[in-house]
Amino acid sequence: MGRGKAATDAMDKGRRSRTAGISASTKSGSGLVAMTPRSDGVPKQFQLAGHTIAVNVVTPRKWKHGKNCVGIWLPDSYKIELLSSCKGSNRQQVFCHEAIHAMLDVAGHDDLSRDEQLVDRLGHLLQQMLTTME
Ligand SMILES: [Zn+2]
Repeated sequence: MGRGKAATDAMDKGRRSRTAGISASTKSGSGLVAMTPRSDGVPKQFQLAGHTIAVNVVTPRKWKHGKNCVGIWLPDSYKIELLSSCKGSNRQQVFCHEAIHAMLDVAGHDDLSRDEQLVDRLGHLLQQMLTTME
């Protein structure tokens, strides 16, 4: 758990489907509208099944999770930590990867959460979804 970015794989090539002619913004007033992400595109916190998941960006000096790790989900404290030197869409991807760990663990599927390949793919898809919403 916790290793952020794996090698980019080829999974989302040519798979961009789009429902023809239907605008996603016909309905407003959903929770999505109230979402106010930080300027770096990751939230400060979010809720999962009644738990508040805090998202902290940590400087390399205070980072305790090793050099090969850029993000980590800490299930005991319901926290996600992201390394501050990891920026932009990279940080978003690491955040989404860790958020998938969090979702699977909170859903009681820690077995699936240990499948880093699955987590990484779902993380990439989640990042794509969140950054292409209209
Ligand atoms: Zn992981």
